[in-house]
Amino acid sequence: MSDQTTSAFDARHAWTTLSRKDPAKRSAHDRIADFLEIYGFYDEVEAREQASRCVQCPEPTCVAGCPLGTNIPEWLALTAEGHFAEAAAALHSGNNLPEICARVCPADHLCEAQCLISGQAQPVSIWAVEQFLNEYAFTHGIVKPSVAPPNGRHVAIAGAGPGGLACADGLIRRGFAVTIFDRRELPGGLLVYGTPEFHLERSIVQRRVELLRQQGVVFELGTPYAEETALPALLQRFDAVYLAFGAKVPRSLALPGADLNGVHQAVPFLLQAGVDHPGSKLLVGGRRVVVIGGGDTAIDCARTAIRRGAAETTVVYRRDAGSLPCMRRDYEAAVEEGVRFIFQATPVAILAQAAGGVTGLQLARTSMGAPDPEGRRPFEIKAGDSYILSADVVFLALGFDPAPPPPTSPSRLLDLGEHGEIKVNARQMTSLPGVFAGGDLVRGPCTALAAVRDARMAVEGIEAYVGTRKPLG
Ligand SMILES: Cc1cc2nc3c(=O)[nH]c(=O)nc-3n(C[C@H](O)[C@H](O)[C@H](O)COP(=O)(O)OP(=O)(O)OC[C@H]3O[C@@H](n4cnc5c(N)ncnc54)[C@H](O)[C@@H]3O)c2cc1C
Repeated sequence: MSDQTTSAFDARHAWTTLSRKDPAKRSAHDRIADFLEIYGFYDEVEAREQASRCVQCPEPTCVAGCPLGTNIPEWLALTAEGHFAEAAAALHSGNNLPEICARVCPADHLCEAQCLISGQAQPVSIWAVEQFLNEYAFTHGIVKPSVAPPNGRHVAIAGAGPGGLACADGLIRRGFAVTIFDRRELPGGLLVYGTPEFHLERSIVQRRVELLRQQGVVFELGTPYAEETALPALLQRFDAVYLAFGAKVPRSLALPGADLNGVHQAVPFLLQAGVDHPGSKLLVGGRRVVVIGGGDTAIDCARTAIRRGAAETTVVYRRDAGSLPCMRRDYEAAVEEGVRFIFQATPVAILAQAAGGVTGLQLARTSMGAPDPEGRRPFEIKAGDSYILSADVVFLALGFDPAPPPPTSPSRLLDLGEHGEIKVNARQMTSLPGVFAGGDLVRGPCTALAAVRDARMAVEGIEAYVGTRKPLG
């Protein structure tokens, strides 16, 4: 099908006759043999059909459900009409990293959860149309390096995660010179050093980084912000600074046995099973793995253990299946790949043999209470109702807390919240004029999309701020 208008699709009523169809997945048997992404892409006919399921409601609820407020109905309508280039341009104008967000964004909890037809039919497959448009845009040369005439201002960004990359893209498009510092050798932050490749292939992040380089963004990698590029020094050299170094610490478990050999945090395992492999030290092959938690990290960890040859992989989650915070499609993929789920159970002790290795967990059953005003259902441990689950390796995926900056850190120059998070105003400016911050660093654990949202606000803030200042001599 060509990129031309036809009237074959009625964009308002198609959902009554057309069912939702997600893109084809590779078979579970094939995909657990590698770390590649599991979904294919719509072809042009499928993309048009699925986009035509959007009812184009006058007050689009999906837009309200998107942290970026992306004009989703606009690019769905353009897709339904076959105007793929225009649709891709509309999508890319509202999001600096759409090809990344489409892969990792929890659409079923955000835009798709708000889709007007939900309840009467399956919501429009917004994430998959977005995936199609991104692929179309890159393969048809619609995404090009784009720069504005230089404005003579230079901004330093600390942290090359999604927040830092999105901020760099926004600034360079407005004529700023941009230098990003990151302590790691690869840009991408948790997108590269946390998210497994079956979720987001590293080449997708590299493609975006390459585009930013072509636009003139300078990457200074292997350079910790806290040392060579400390805040006061940055303020001498740059017109403004954006802090996006996402500091956070994984939560631990206060239980008997939590410090046993064989109990590990999930993220270091993901890191070494992904980027650092094959130098991996934490081996799970042939072992019984139990993952505690129910968020993205827990599911990613379980699916990684399966790919690394675990004999059995079980996720233990304290609430019911309907309360799982991870994406629904990831849960379904995990089940297909052989991950077992135990719901409404929580560990009360981790058990060991005399030599010290883990042998299992004592799990207490829980009961679910009525939803609170935010719809979250609390759980309670059922007294005296527990059992043993055998395990050789236990991974903790219990969420994160913001990491308060160390006493010597230049971040101490800034006003901090009670958990050590950096305080910002509506345009992401900290208490120190010219220093902006966003993403996990400010919010605690959040999402890539929220980091992009903060970066877009910061670009507005930085532009307004430097407009009031003389350029550095
Ligand atoms: C396992 C896992 C799975 C996830 N899955 C999803 C998902 O499916 N969908 C989703 O939306 N979100 C997911 N998230 C969360 C998401 O990855 C983060 O919310 C997002 O990456 C935050 O972006 P950021 O730019 O604020 O920080 P980060 O991505 O953490 O990037 C911070 C960068 O700063 C660098 N840095 C740190 N300290 C310094 C320093 N002193 N000097 C210089 N550089 C420094 C780091 O090396 C890093 O590159 C997941 C997280 C994890 C751990």
